[in-house]
Amino acid sequence: KPVGAKVELVDLPLREDLRGRTPYGAPQLDVPVRLNTNENPYPPTPALVQDVVREVAAIAGELHRYPDRDAVVLREDLAAYLASSTGVPLTSANLWAANGSNEVLQQILQAFGGPGRSALGFEPSYSMHPIIAAGTRTEWAPTPRRADFSLDVARAAETIAERAPDVVFVTSPNNPTGQSLPVADLRVLIEAAPGMVVVDEAYAEFSSRESAVVLLEDYPAKLIVSRTMSKAFAFAGGRLGYLAAAPAVVDALQLVRLPYHLSALTQAAARASLRHAAETLGSVAKLAAERDRVMGSLAGLGFSVVPSDANFVLFGWFEDTRAAWRAYLERGVLIRDVGIAGHLRVTVGTPEENDAFLAASKEVGR
Ligand code: PMP
Repeated sequence: KPVGAKVELVDLPLREDLRGRTPYGAPQLDVPVRLNTNENPYPPTPALVQDVVREVAAIAGELHRYPDRDAVVLREDLAAYLASSTGVPLTSANLWAANGSNEVLQQILQAFGGPGRSALGFEPSYSMHPIIAAGTRTEWAPTPRRADFSLDVARAAETIAERAPDVVFVTSPNNPTGQSLPVADLRVLIEAAPGMVVVDEAYAEFSSRESAVVLLEDYPAKLIVSRTMSKAFAFAGGRLGYLAAAPAVVDALQLVRLPYHLSALTQAAARASLRHAAETLGSVAKLAAERDRVMGSLAGLGFSVVPSDANFVLFGWFEDTRAAWRAYLERGVLIRDVGIAGHLRVTVGTPEENDAFLAASKEVGR
């Protein structure tokens, strides 16, 4: 037994509002086919690996010094990438970066949410939004999507106007359901919002829609677009999330960020990874085509499939979701029970992994 194990969580003077809560917990299991956390299945190329090693070696002799606190050069590189992919002339002043977009989202709620304030999201959506709200003591206002998981934009705008949350989260493409919103719909939601609107674009590269970044010029006091290198960029282990917003929003986040939050190693590795964007993002079209194949095959097997614009697919219907999840696991395929009745979510993997998943699906049935 570890030292101190006689004390249990209930014995600690934990904040009342955190009692009884469960932490984020996607299982990390050692199975042959891991399709449960929406990662890019393709590892970095040897050229990218070499570049990361070279960059890290170059700074290793300076690790006695703190890193660039404002990560300016990395933000310049991120601005160049986002500007070229959206056509909006962003600069480093528009960009902010942290350890994964989860940290970016937390900083946003630390600055714009908090005690006495509220955040609204359209559920089912990314499970960390309410968890980060809880951690920052921001009141969470869950608002349902339609039964088919699409968003009734007119009703959503009414709800935003009625409830007047300090922060609205719009996930597009939405995790775990896969649908994305056109810019015209985002505009309606932003117009209705009295406070900040965070468009969480973790899966934007997989989507056929235009990015919300094109709206920044029109809504500089309201809009924040959150992105990550964890998905399309195949950099989940590197932990690099970022956002695009007006420079004043970046100033606001500086008030809550911890000094030197982005290590020199992270900054160097992320910059190396960005230099290889073209080759890494080459996998996006492949994954989108595989996604369409997986959706078609699942439908052919008689499953109901939620149309996806991302690198994962929500499907059902299972009488016993937990048992179905376990049946996949017994066949060496780890997918995700996201807590939606009758449904499971599968990440799109390599063609071989997807074949293994589809073969298991045939056996697991409905
Ligand atoms: N937003 C959404 C919608 C996500 O699905 C995820 C990852 N599951 C994240 C943000 C956070 O990813 P990261 O912290 O790795 O950038």
